[in-house]
Amino acid sequence: MERIILVRYGEIGLKGLNKSFFIDMLIRNIKNSLTFLRHLKIENIQGRFILRVYEEDVQRTTEALQKVFGIVSVSVACRVNNDMEQISDMALKLMKETVEAHGYTTFKVVARRANKAFPISTPELNQEIGGLILDNMKDLSVDVHDPQAKLYIEVREKTYIFTEILHGKGGLPVGSGGKATLLISGGIDSPVAGYMIAKRGVELIGVHFYSYPYTSERAKEKVIRLMEIVARYSGMIKLYIVPFTDIQLEIGEKCNDKMSTLIMRRYMMKISTIIAKMEKAPGLITGESIGQVASQTLESLLVTDNATDLPVFRPVIGMDKNEIIKIAQEIDTFETSILPYEDCCTVFVPKHPMTRPKLDEIVKEESKIERATELIDIAVKNCEVLEIYAK
Ligand code: ATP
Ligand code: MG
Repeated sequence: MERIILVRYGEIGLKGLNKSFFIDMLIRNIKNSLTFLRHLKIENIQGRFILRVYEEDVQRTTEALQKVFGIVSVSVACRVNNDMEQISDMALKLMKETVEAHGYTTFKVVARRANKAFPISTPELNQEIGGLILDNMKDLSVDVHDPQAKLYIEVREKTYIFTEILHGKGGLPVGSGGKATLLISGGIDSPVAGYMIAKRGVELIGVHFYSYPYTSERAKEKVIRLMEIVARYSGMIKLYIVPFTDIQLEIGEKCNDKMSTLIMRRYMMKISTIIAKMEKAPGLITGESIGQVASQTLESLLVTDNATDLPVFRPVIGMDKNEIIKIAQEIDTFETSILPYEDCCTVFVPKHPMTRPKLDEIVKEESKIERATELIDIAVKNCEVLEIYAK
């Protein structure tokens, strides 16, 4: 049997002249997130999409749709003609199914006549269908304030009847806001940062610095796994794995230990900037939050920012760790992030890093690395580039 899924998009419905650009992008993203379906029809009717899928695909489809940015909510509905007999039969059938599944004892009918050509008004619909349900289901009573079950009836070009409104993530369709480059570690913060920027319609290019053999193959796999989870929301992510060992060793050898983390971070910014420009993804995203570690004091962030001429977006900058963790749990990256594999930052971490660095001092120290340009070139040339899809 075929089922109807109603898809509501909020913010983008108000986009004026650009509306079709956003709508087309959302349709493209919906199709990309539902490639497992053998059968999919999408209609765009009166400010919402109507999808038709087979019954057995309904759950997987709604779960995937709830992750597509730009979608505000979805409902699994039945569709009948604008005919009181068909509406009544279907309303009763759906109500019986719902009560049986959940054991509800109270309900309310929420009718809406969007099609004014339909002769029965909204209050009359509420009354008539409510009365019908009461007559046929003796254990149920009406509770207009706090009902356990709601039966929605929307009369449009046809009538849609459903009992649930499932929340989507909101935001804007990915791609509608261009591209930006995410510096992704294996930690908790950067996947959340990527998710938050993607939510505003931005496609992600990932860059991960990898210090093999100081960090293991498993640490790299962890980052790939994190990107697969973020891709459930953002769509495909092109991921650059940058060989970083030589640069880290050179920093370790030539530079003052206290400054090594910051110099390393500046190299990350420089290499990410080159990749970002190659990919036309001209903004860097990091998971930094003020004061979380020595390299994230305001003074340190100034030193880091100075290594790039691109804007640096730090969506979790003002958040406490607990707030970031809450989002990580919600989007399902947390369990993977806390796996104990080492990151290149933690392997080379100095005992007493500077917390109030001065830019000119750091730049001077950094200039001790004479092969800087060559090392950066080699790292960029030897990147491994992967396409990461949702899993
Ligand atoms: P996270 O939880 O995201 O790892 P963190 O609190 O561990 O963050 P740092 O290790 O100081 O903080 O890293 C700050 C930011 O720098 C990260 O959020 C990420 O954007 C970037 N970063 C750190 N390590 C790497 C890496 N190996 N590859 C790419 N980006 C990195
Ligand atoms: Mg980290």
